[in-house]
Amino acid sequence: MPRTPSSPHWLTLAVLLPLVVLGVLAWVGVKAQVRAAWSSAKDEAKIAGNHVADVLARDLAAAVETAPRFPDPPVPGEASEADAVLDGNDLPALRRLRDDPAAGVSPAGLPRRVLAGFRVLEASKDAGDAEILVNLTTQEAPSVLTSLALAKAGDAAKAEMESWARGERARALFHRYPEVGPEGTWLVDGDETGWLAADGNELHFISSLSITNSLDSAVGHLPAWSGMRLVSDGKLIIRTSPDGEVMETLPVEFGQGLGLQIIAARPDLIEGSARRQGQWTLGLLGCAVLVSGSALGMMHHSIRRERRLSEMKSQFVASVSHELRAPVASIRLMADALEEEKVDPETAKEFHRLIAREGARLSTLVANVLDHARIEQGRKVWNMEPCDLAALANETLRVMEPLAKEKEIVLEGGLSAVEAVVDAGAIQQALVNLLDNAIKFSPRGTTVRISLAMEGSHWNLAVRDQGPGISKEEHHRIFERFYRPGDELRRETQGTGIGLSLVKSIIEAHDGQVLLESTLGKGSVFTLTGPVSPPP
Ligand code: ADP
Repeated sequence: MPRTPSSPHWLTLAVLLPLVVLGVLAWVGVKAQVRAAWSSAKDEAKIAGNHVADVLARDLAAAVETAPRFPDPPVPGEASEADAVLDGNDLPALRRLRDDPAAGVSPAGLPRRVLAGFRVLEASKDAGDAEILVNLTTQEAPSVLTSLALAKAGDAAKAEMESWARGERARALFHRYPEVGPEGTWLVDGDETGWLAADGNELHFISSLSITNSLDSAVGHLPAWSGMRLVSDGKLIIRTSPDGEVMETLPVEFGQGLGLQIIAARPDLIEGSARRQGQWTLGLLGCAVLVSGSALGMMHHSIRRERRLSEMKSQFVASVSHELRAPVASIRLMADALEEEKVDPETAKEFHRLIAREGARLSTLVANVLDHARIEQGRKVWNMEPCDLAALANETLRVMEPLAKEKEIVLEGGLSAVEAVVDAGAIQQALVNLLDNAIKFSPRGTTVRISLAMEGSHWNLAVRDQGPGISKEEHHRIFERFYRPGDELRRETQGTGIGLSLVKSIIEAHDGQVLLESTLGKGSVFTLTGPVSPPP
């Protein structure tokens, strides 16, 4: 069959191509939306980052703490008379030495005022003396003894203890990085992160806890998808979240080379809405593909069926023409010969018989075609009346007898009466078709048998032959309209493919069905079965 623009392939293309184009456009659209989401996130990072950099600079400046720096190891002082006071138990003298700003440093390198303070506290156990020792060791004469003094002062030194401990850490760091100057530096040393500057006798520092606190308070100003990294001259100091793409780097006005990087810690939040929209679009497209796919499938199926039917119809028309032409031609020839009286009486008798047979075949064929058309168009009038099926079958056998004789086929019947409400003419037509097939397809000298039986409220009328049988695959198809198995050119028997389809329509109009049992090479049994009294 030639392919026209309306052929299924073009239709498929016409449906699928726009879907593919839509799919590509949707995909490009999603990509563009994702890109747009990233670029607006970068803008957001810039604006929020500027603000956070200012807040951080202010917070960091406020977080700077100062700790005194003293010689470590201690530098020994000159021996003096004051050392004797330190060895004695004269409390007033010890208090005087403790309060004397010029008491100096002992030969062991320790401030004499602090040593005197220890002795006073030991002797007096007085809270006032404890407080004086705390002030002395943390402010006026800090030294390696300060920690010990704070421990001895107990409750009086609670507040100082913590800040002194931070100062101790700063001093330990300075010990490791003695080159740190007044401009300060950011240190990342194992777990220890901090900022440290040394200016004369003072160390300025920011503890890692203060840095974390500053970042934590700044994080609230950033978009939900972001995180922060603090870098110094490109070196990472600290970050607030797992790493991600750097969206913006901003200078922080604190010390030198400090930068704040805004990172995309949760890219899914940036792309989320674009991707969700994309998923929706793709989901909808998927549904459209499914729906059009199944619609196309159904369309293909029905087009194929229509084509097959139309091919079968063409074959049918060809077969019917042939089936009509052949008997008409032979009837005309024989009638001409008879008219001209050119044949002997014996042949004339044979010609009469043949004319009658061909006439009967023609009328069966015409009746089949007409009835088929009537049933198909719903115009067939069914005359349902009580009838003896056995008599009907025997009568049909008699009608078919001459045809069977020609092929030396024995027709067996001899049935006992079964009363049922049927359209006698239609059932006989069905039987004629079944018998005609049985005779047509069976080899010479075989037997075709009709049997009639009751099963519950149903009658069964079976036609059994010893013909070639029908393969299992064909069982269903031979009841289709115009269907004839095998290759049209190689077919040996005459026929139109209409008989069994008519039989099926007739028996279904009786609320019954036609059953087929057949094995290749072993003959076939077609059984008509219907209710004794079908519903009106
Ligand atoms: P037709 O006989 O005109 O071809 P039918 O609808 O009566 O059309 O039969 C359809 C096909 O079923 C036949 O062409 C034949 O191949 C197969 N068939 C029908 N009856 C028999 C049978 N008794 N034995 C073998 N094949 C049969």
